[in-house]
Amino acid sequence: MLSGTSGVMRVAGPVRYIAKPLRSAPVDTVAERPELSRPPPTQERPRMPRAGRRPHAALAVVAGVVIAVVALLPGSRASADTAADQREVKRKRAEVASQIDTLKATDTQLDSALADLQANVRATQAAMADAQADVDAATDRARQAERQAAETQARIDQLRGQVVQAAVDAYVEPKGDQALDMFEERSANDASAKQALIDVTSGAKLDVVDEFRNAKQQLEEQQAEADAARAEAEQRRDALAEKKAGYDTALAQQQQVADQVSARIDDKLAESQALATLDSKLSDQLAREQAALAQKLRAARGSSGGGGGGGGRGSASISVSRPGLSSVGGITVASSIAGQLQSLLNAASAAGYDLGGSGWRDSSGQIALRRQNCGSSDYAVYQMSPEQCSPPTAIPGRSKHEQGLAIDFTIGGHTLRTSDGAYQWMVGNAGSYGFVNLPGEPWHWSVGGG
Ligand SMILES: [Zn+2]
Repeated sequence: MLSGTSGVMRVAGPVRYIAKPLRSAPVDTVAERPELSRPPPTQERPRMPRAGRRPHAALAVVAGVVIAVVALLPGSRASADTAADQREVKRKRAEVASQIDTLKATDTQLDSALADLQANVRATQAAMADAQADVDAATDRARQAERQAAETQARIDQLRGQVVQAAVDAYVEPKGDQALDMFEERSANDASAKQALIDVTSGAKLDVVDEFRNAKQQLEEQQAEADAARAEAEQRRDALAEKKAGYDTALAQQQQVADQVSARIDDKLAESQALATLDSKLSDQLAREQAALAQKLRAARGSSGGGGGGGGRGSASISVSRPGLSSVGGITVASSIAGQLQSLLNAASAAGYDLGGSGWRDSSGQIALRRQNCGSSDYAVYQMSPEQCSPPTAIPGRSKHEQGLAIDFTIGGHTLRTSDGAYQWMVGNAGSYGFVNLPGEPWHWSVGGG
């Protein structure tokens, strides 16, 4: 209150200054013609506040403004707005997460994106539940008001007969319905009609008339309440539809990214298998990382009921065909790329890098692994998402290694690393021979990517 008072005193001067000319000029013209806010020379100029006068009036004006401003701040809605703000933050984070490049992102980034998407799914789900509760509450209120109105109507019907009978008993008018009209209208005749009843009958008859009127008033209120509640329910249903749309979007975003992450897990697991003999340590590391990511993906999909997902990358061909194979420098690849691999190895060698490596990998080992980890059905072996298997296992036939189109290169007995000179040479030259690198796997080069 103290700060409010000091605020009042600070603005008291300007408020009086502007308010004064309003006495001689209409409000709307003041707004359009700013010069009117300056006092004309012929009028008395605004004086400095005299001690003990006028400040009270100014204080009242400002206090009114303060009260009006405070009234505009919806205190009771503050927490609801905060919740809406928090939902909006989650929605935006999910929007960003849904744009993630799942090929280039690190596992940590994917993890974080999945968490953001999941948070948004939960928030939109909760908002939808709240909106549904609002619809239910308004619908309940409408039903209750309708029930009460029906009861009141029944009582009115009953009272109507008693009022008519009272009027007939009073001989106010042989036709009772006309007397009824008289009571229903609060007309000037009211008093004389009442008096007529009092004169002829006991005052008790009047209680019926009052009760009748009160019931009619009550009925109007109950019908108004029912109408208002129905209108509110309708509005709440619109809000619910909006929340439902938000939830659907959140689910779709999550589903889309989850499918991409699943596809990536599939790639990495296949890579882990391809590396099993070449670099068992790297192979184990990849498998562990993907198992952790798969667990998060399963959790995200499971808790939002978004389904387990299919194979992740369209319809899977169930047969895994073995390509025609050739061996180049001890590396087995599809015959279709033997020529370009030979050229690449020759050029690398000329530059001082003797590359070794591992190319084609038989799918039969992968199929056996899937039977063991995923199940024996064709669906389990060839289509089920890798994260649904225990442990997570890549789908057979999808890896470029199984197609003979990828090579994991080694130099000096270890898989190629970004710090190797040979890697730098590959970055500068492999493209000329049609080989591209997979982000995050410096050792893995393929024809056509992936
Ligand atoms: Zn590879």
